[in-house]
Amino acid sequence: MEIIVMGCGTSQGVPLPAHDNPGLDLKEPRNWRTRASVHVVIEGHHVQVDAAPEFRLQSIRNDIRKVDTFILTHGHADHVLGIDDLRQFCTNRGGLAIPVHSTPTGLDRVRTIFPYALMERSFSGYIALTLHELGPELALPGGGILRTALLPHGKDDVLGLIFEEPSTGAKFAYFTDCKALPPRARELAAGADLMIIDALRPNAHPTHLTVSEALGEIEAVRPKRALLTHMTYQVGWAEYSAQLAGRDPEVGLCHDGMRIRLD
Ligand SMILES: [Zn+2]
Ligand SMILES: [Zn+2]
Repeated sequence: MEIIVMGCGTSQGVPLPAHDNPGLDLKEPRNWRTRASVHVVIEGHHVQVDAAPEFRLQSIRNDIRKVDTFILTHGHADHVLGIDDLRQFCTNRGGLAIPVHSTPTGLDRVRTIFPYALMERSFSGYIALTLHELGPELALPGGGILRTALLPHGKDDVLGLIFEEPSTGAKFAYFTDCKALPPRARELAAGADLMIIDALRPNAHPTHLTVSEALGEIEAVRPKRALLTHMTYQVGWAEYSAQLAGRDPEVGLCHDGMRIRLD
C-alpha cells in the first residue's frame, strides 16, 4: 500500500492569508500546507480521499494519474470543493463516472454543489459521478478492504477510514477532522502500521483534537507509527518535530507531498 499526503493543513491552509502567522517559519517548506487530503494506492487500486480546493495542484505536484474510487470523509468546504477537478481523471477512464462514497450528509453536499455531475457517463469532457452511501465496510476492486467508523466533528459525523491490504497485511487508519476516537475507531485501528490523525493546534477547539488530545488517542490505539494532520500555523514543523522525537509509538508531522509505503 502507498499513502501520499496531498495536503495536511487546516481548513484555511497554512500560512493563513491576510495574517502575520506569528512564530511560523515560512522558509521551511514543510510549513506550507494545502488543505487536508490523502491518496491511497491499495492492491493497485487508486483511492482519493477528499478533494481540497488545491486538488488540481496537489495532483500535478504528486503526479497522480488515476482515481478509481473517491471517498468523501464529510461535506466541509476544505474537503469537497476540489471535486470538479476530477474531470481529467474521469476523461482518462473514458468518461465513466467516478464512484463517490460518503455519509448521507456528505452525499447531499455533493448533490447541492455539483448537481451537473450526477450521471453514469460523461461524453463531453466534464465530470461524471455516481453517489454511494458508505456503510461499515467496503470491498474495493482489487481486493483491498475499507472499514469505517463515524467520528464526532460538531454537527456532522466524519468517516474515519481503516484500509487493509490482504496481499501485504498492511493496515492504515486515517482520522481527519474529529474531536475524539469512539471505541469502534480505536478497535479497528489497533495494530495499524500507520495512523494519520487530526491535531489542529495546541489550544482547545470545539470540533477538532488538539495536539495533546491527538497524542492521547495515539497512546490509546498504539499504532506502529502515527502522523499528525489538519494543522494550523501554530504547529511549526521544527518545534513540534523536536518535541515529538523519541516517543513510543513513533509520532511525527505530515508534510505535503509525503509518501509512505507499507508492505
Ligand atoms: Zn477539514
Ligand atoms: Zn471538517
